Amino acid sequence: MDDDRWLSRAVELANRSPRSSTAFAVGAVIVGADGREIASGWSRDVDPLVHAEESALARADGDLREATLYSSLEPCSKRASRPDATCTSLILAAGIPRVVIAWYEPDIFVTCEGVALLTAAGVEVVEKPEFAVRARAANAHLLHGPRP
Ligand SMILES: [Zn+2]
Repeated sequence: MDDDRWLSRAVELANRSPRSSTAFAVGAVIVGADGREIASGWSRDVDPLVHAEESALARADGDLREATLYSSLEPCSKRASRPDATCTSLILAAGIPRVVIAWYEPDIFVTCEGVALLTAAGVEVVEKPEFAVRARAANAHLLHGPRP
């Protein structure tokens, strides 16, 4: 399992996100059972509201029922901009069985229940906290700066 390699790539992609005072910078990569990248995305890469996981899923073709989704941040479970398209619900709808994250979402904007909901639905969630420092670095302006 190349979890470290792919999660590292997801964290790097987070740095491409245009910074926002009201949303996290996140990167996501979807990898197939054959170990090849299927799709990737980052926050606000195609429109000002799109989330990283959402963007990657929109680009992913084919059957994702053996894929793993890597995200620098816990997938969202509440979303002001698109309440019916949380990343958690999109991951479940795609049938992705495994999610690897670097960082649990802090309670800055909402209380996130993404990991709890995914786990309850039978998705294997792996946290690799050794990547959290890098995942947070792309969001330093949210963690230390003035609140929006
Ligand atoms: Zn999201």
